[in-house]
Order: sequence, then structure tokens, then C-alpha cells
Amino acid sequence: MEKLKYERPVINKIKAGVPDKFGMSTKIKTISKIEGIPVKDIIKEYGSPVFVLSENKIRETYNEAYRAFSTRYPKVQFSWSYKTNYLDAVCKIYHSEGSWAEVVSGFEYDKAIDNGVDGSKILFNGPDKSDKDLIKAIEKKSFIHIDHFDELYSIIRIADNLKQKAKVAIRVNMDTGIYPQWDRFGFNYENGEAWNALNRIMLSNNLELVGLHTHIGTYILSANAYGIAATKLAELAVRVHRKFNHHIKYIDMGGGFASNNTLKGAYLPGKDTCPSFDDYAESITSALINSEIEPDHLPTLFLETGRAMIDEAGYILGTVLANKRLTSARRSTIVDIGINLLFTSFWYDHEIYPAQESSQQTEDTTIYGPLCMNIDMLREAIQFPLLQKGDHIVIPRIGAYNMTQWMQFITLRPNILLIDTNKNIQIIRKKESNDLFKSLEIVPEHLK
Ligand SMILES: *Cc1c(COP(=O)(O)O)cnc(C)c1O
Repeated sequence: MEKLKYERPVINKIKAGVPDKFGMSTKIKTISKIEGIPVKDIIKEYGSPVFVLSENKIRETYNEAYRAFSTRYPKVQFSWSYKTNYLDAVCKIYHSEGSWAEVVSGFEYDKAIDNGVDGSKILFNGPDKSDKDLIKAIEKKSFIHIDHFDELYSIIRIADNLKQKAKVAIRVNMDTGIYPQWDRFGFNYENGEAWNALNRIMLSNNLELVGLHTHIGTYILSANAYGIAATKLAELAVRVHRKFNHHIKYIDMGGGFASNNTLKGAYLPGKDTCPSFDDYAESITSALINSEIEPDHLPTLFLETGRAMIDEAGYILGTVLANKRLTSARRSTIVDIGINLLFTSFWYDHEIYPAQESSQQTEDTTIYGPLCMNIDMLREAIQFPLLQKGDHIVIPRIGAYNMTQWMQFITLRPNILLIDTNKNIQIIRKKESNDLFKSLEIVPEHLK
């Protein structure tokens, strides 16, 4: 065996404020307070981990988005995407700002009604609407966004039976230059399917065509794609008017605007690459205003923005359980936040911050969650200071999808708090208990 060559160790001088080949070294940012309330006090009172939402931030972002569109277009209506975060308190904040409800299941539909939303202000999307759901939606005069021909024929049958007009739109999928194309929802534009569906609706007795809908994807980094989509929907609206002398009341551009999170594998942070609400608004409203649609009949512009509206308002706070050296000599830190609570860690490199002053020396660290499962990893590689057992961490920008896609696995789900506009902490979803789970399970007689 050949003797390995000796390499002398190197000591690098720390060059504060001077870029090296990895770029600028930055001071470790800490997040010790949320809306002015110390993280350690929140955890002491409500446990760890714990979700925290800021009502101020929700309202502020809503208004920023609404302003971007309403200053460029005369008729704008936002509709809150329930599946993004359907905590009642959250939905009610959006409704109080003027948002309608955008739902994709019977469960979400009933939730919107319970939240006091009038049936005529619910947009009903999704491929799974039962006959029972459809009857309810027709009777309550909701806008039903048809996903496929089977659903179209069901609605024709149900509306004829009820002898009531169903208010419908179709969901349209199309090539906007974003690949892979989301063609599993709705009717395709390019192959004529959408036009076919529109003709069938126009020729049926009990269907009233009120709108055109698209949702081109999620976390779309190209504002231009929305301009293309809006142009295609406007073109359909013009064709419907030409052939049937019928004006479409609204064009719904769906959701999909990117939040400032960073996708795994992205070279630059999301903050630097995501278009602003103004960019999206400019693209969409230009397409509609410059279309052939007559100015007197400009449709209302609906938006169903989810992710970009609430991500920034949500935090999860947690605690360090242990540090460990892996056999590769790499440092790992184990925290009490698992991927069961932070579903979005599958596609985002979430930022993770210490909640107290820490050393400025960082090391490439893997952050694991508390689950006894190999995939439970929040960050494979992050420059992170050494925290001690019991120290707290904060993961910002997690308001979208985590509180709906989370799963009960190994641990129970924690409290969700809202810091209201008076800086009071409100529990908006209680932490789960063993009793709750017991109440759902039934042990057969012979096993008791
Ligand atoms: C999920 C969804 C939305 C919201 O999408 P975001 O990417 O969170 O903005 C809007 N419309 C429909 C039909 C959806 O399915």
C-alpha cells in the first residue's frame, strides 16, 4: 500500500467583511421575537414546537396584493384558497378584508358556509365534487368551476332535475411556457376541448356560463406566463361573445404566485428571484385590457392567490434536542420540529434561525427533526452555529400549506397561535391530545 502524501494543515484567517469564494460572510441573524413578543416566552406558555401567525402580516400582505391589482384594473375580487390554510380564524381574516372563498372539496365548502360566507361568494373548484355537493352548490348559487366532461354532464343532469340554473365556469389548462404543463385539471385550450365544453354549456338549458378559470401551477416564477394565460382566456371570452352574444362576467386567474421561499436546488434565494405582486398584476391586467374584449364588458378579475398571501405571516418555533457528530464528522443538530409538521421542507430550503444570541462561528450542519424515521430532515446542509440543548429556533415563512398538509405521525400536532392586531396571543387551534385520538378509535368487543 502506498503511503499517503503528507499535506500540511492550513489555518485560514477570518476575513470579516471581505468576500471569499463563497461570497460575503454574514452575521448570523437571530429571530428572538415575533411581533415584539419574545420567542422564549411564547414557548414557555404554549409549548414547543408551536405555530405562530401574525394577523398584521396577513392583512398587510392582502392589502399589498389587492392594491397591486386594483390600481391597474377596475374590477378585482380576491377569493381565499382554503386548502392553503383553512384555519377558521385565518379564513375569517381574509373574509373580513373582502375575500370570497375558493374551495376544492365538500369539506372545504361546508367550512366556508360555517365561516359565514354567502353561497354566492364561493368558487367551487377541484375534480371531486359529489352529486350532493353539486346540488348544494347549485341551490346556494355558488360558482361551480367544471373540471371535466363527466362533471359537466352531471351538472346538466342535476340542474335539469332541480329545474334550477347552475352558475358555471370551466377550468382551462393551456401552454403558458411553464413545464411540465398542468394538464390534469380542466379542459385544454390548444386542442379545442375548452371550446367544446363552452359550446355544450351554452347549448344546455339550465347552465349559465358566468366565468373562465385557470390555475396554471404553483410557485410560478414567470409573471409573463400569467399574461399568456390571460390572453388565451380573453380570447375564449371574445369567441363566446361572437358566437352566442353572451358576455362572461369574470376571468379567474387562479393562484400560483411564488412566495419568497427558496426552492431546493435554486442557486439564488427566493427573495431575489420571485416576481412581486406588481409584476404579476402588470402582466395579467395588460393582457385583459389589451384584449379584444369590449371596454364596457370587461370581466371582473378573480384571483385565488394562496401561498404568496400567507407564507410570510407564519412561523414555527422549536427547541434543540441534541447535537451529534455523524460518522462523516459532519455536525447534526436535532430539533423538535419534524417534517410531519413542516411538509414544505420537501421542496423548500427553509431558513432556520437561532432565537437567542449565538456564536458567530458556523459549520455546515444537517438539521434533523425528532421523528424516528430517516427521512425526517429539515435541512441537509445549512451554515449554522452550535446551539445548545434547550436553545430555541425559529423557521419563518411557513404559513402556507403546512397547517393543512401536516400529518399526525409519532407526535401529536401542537398549538397554533395568532398574534392579533393588538399584539395579544390567541390560541386558534388547540394542541391535540390522546383523548381526541381515543374518541375516534373503536376497539372491537373481543379485543377489549
Ligand atoms: C391550490 C389552489 C390555489 C392556490 O394556489 P397557490 O399556489 O397557493 O397560490 C388556487 N386555485 C386553485 C384552483 C388551487 O387548487
